[in-house]
Amino acid sequence: MRLRTRKAANRAKAPQLALCPQCGAHVLSHRVCPACGFYKGKQVVTVKTA
Ligand SMILES: [Zn+2]
Repeated sequence: MRLRTRKAANRAKAPQLALCPQCGAHVLSHRVCPACGFYKGKQVVTVKTA
């Protein structure tokens, strides 16, 4: 029964990378940019700039 264990492990291995139009960082598509907090042209989260 060991074969079943890894059934889902290989799925969705590579995340969809996109470029943040705001800061140009690589971000996961359909995710808020962790660097600047922008998503779809709006700042949706506040990122602390140390
Ligand atoms: Zn960004």
